[in-house]
Amino acid sequence: TETVETKEFQSETRQVLKLVIHSLYSNKEIFLRELISNASDACEKLRFAALARPELLGSDTPGVELIPDAAAGTLTVKDNGIGMSREEVVENLGTIARSGTKKFFESLTGDSAKDSQLIGQFGVGFYSGFIVAERITVLTKKADAEAVRWDSDGEGSYQIQPHHKADRGTEVILHLRAEDKEFLDAERLTGLVHKYSDHLALPVSLVKDGKAEVINQAKAFWTRPKSELTEADYQAFYKHLSHDWDEALAWAHHKVEGNLEYTSLLYIPKRAPFDLFNREEQSGVQLYVKRVFIMDKAAELLPPWLRFVRGLVDSADLPLNVSRELLQGNRMVDKIKAALVKRALDLLDDLAANKPEQYAEFWKTFGSVLKEGVIEDDGNRERVAKLLRFASTAHPEGQTVTLADYVARMKPEQKSIYYITADTLAAAKNSPHLEGFVAKGYEVLLLTDRIDEWLTSHLREFEGKKLDSVARSAKDIESAIETPEKAANESAYKDTLERLKKALAGKVGDVRLSARLTESPACLVADEYGMSLRMARMMKAAGQ
Ligand code: ADP
Ligand code: MG
Repeated sequence: TETVETKEFQSETRQVLKLVIHSLYSNKEIFLRELISNASDACEKLRFAALARPELLGSDTPGVELIPDAAAGTLTVKDNGIGMSREEVVENLGTIARSGTKKFFESLTGDSAKDSQLIGQFGVGFYSGFIVAERITVLTKKADAEAVRWDSDGEGSYQIQPHHKADRGTEVILHLRAEDKEFLDAERLTGLVHKYSDHLALPVSLVKDGKAEVINQAKAFWTRPKSELTEADYQAFYKHLSHDWDEALAWAHHKVEGNLEYTSLLYIPKRAPFDLFNREEQSGVQLYVKRVFIMDKAAELLPPWLRFVRGLVDSADLPLNVSRELLQGNRMVDKIKAALVKRALDLLDDLAANKPEQYAEFWKTFGSVLKEGVIEDDGNRERVAKLLRFASTAHPEGQTVTLADYVARMKPEQKSIYYITADTLAAAKNSPHLEGFVAKGYEVLLLTDRIDEWLTSHLREFEGKKLDSVARSAKDIESAIETPEKAANESAYKDTLERLKKALAGKVGDVRLSARLTESPACLVADEYGMSLRMARMMKAAGQ
């Protein structure tokens, strides 16, 4: 006698279920993408486990079968992947113990095309089966464990019981709703597999009259020759890889042969992920070794300032059992990383030069992350500096001015590139510090990102021109805006300056006559070598 246990879904799971079914009702077909993607993950996990235990794989070819059964009204998605133990079934199909759940709820937009991508992104794909199924049965077996059967109508509880099944792997049996029988149709299924799974490395077969026929390309996307791939192919693979609903802005696909052999495929997204500004969030590049998936977010492959880049590297040289520890300080990995940084910068250079509108879009979304490159990467500082865009007194609307544009417009006698940092564009534009510079016809960059304080402390010069803050007291800044009137007035104001110095003693370092101002009576400037005024304010706000 076998025990059937009935368990309640964790309450959040129930909520997710409802939402998934509701928000995807107009885009039902994506359930197949999600289930095939899970089957594919399970096969990848098996291949990975088999690196240490080859007997797991034996002579099997990991793959997925779609088995429509018109008489029973079921569609089965079957794989011979890793399978699940009883605990794993409870953990994975009965709860959503993932930190992303709350974010998922917050991110739902009500637009089903967008929400369908979110589902993949937040790992609630399995439940999408309930969009078309009134009941789902899962039969699964892990090597060395007993098989398990899981049943649910997605209403609030599920049944779990032991099962007899000899083969390792998982069968997800969808008992289709009456109105969703279209998903039994061979042509419909074939079309969907081409649409969503052509780029998967593993074979997806359709079983008709007991015979299985492979219907997808079944070749890792990045191993196919570039000449064979269309823009639409690259975009489809990008969506699969990133779970982004939007298209990619640009990509670069390289096969490298020689001493070091690897393939890289990098994408620049259009849209920022919700955690872009979390510096803990690691690079978005996956690592494969000889087509075997090794890890997501391989932080060693791209620096944090390029964390918005998505993509993958498939190395032919790294050992299959490579771990995160092994990646650190590995010379091969460092070389690949340097090459990837170069490729990403090439991509951005190309966008900036040939598709300025797209580059402007990129800059708006990711510019302040790219600025971290100037701070962190001495070797690429100059290249990154060329990609920066700023607002300036000449072009205060939007960030469009390059440092090269600025230098080209500098007055013949002008020595430095001038900038001001402020919390807002309005504060920057209206700052009295600008007056003397504007009177001289000097352009001033208006910097309003928080990171600009650090940017300017690392970017000391560009094309041989120093960068100077108009809010500093340095002699050469003063002399740059010197006027004959100022020299003439020096003695007339001597007493006034003395009195002011006394009155403000201990509060300011010095009181000086300056040609900085044309309208305002006075302004504060920072000491030549001290912290900038805004930095001092930011430190104070942070309690330091
Ligand atoms: P995600 O795939 O993003 O983790 P899903 O809701 O799609 O989220 O799947 C939940 C979990 O259930 C997976 O992470 C996996 O552990 C397990 N799972 C689902 N389908 C299978 C399968 N065919 N074989 C093995 N495990 C599976
Ligand atoms: Mg999934």
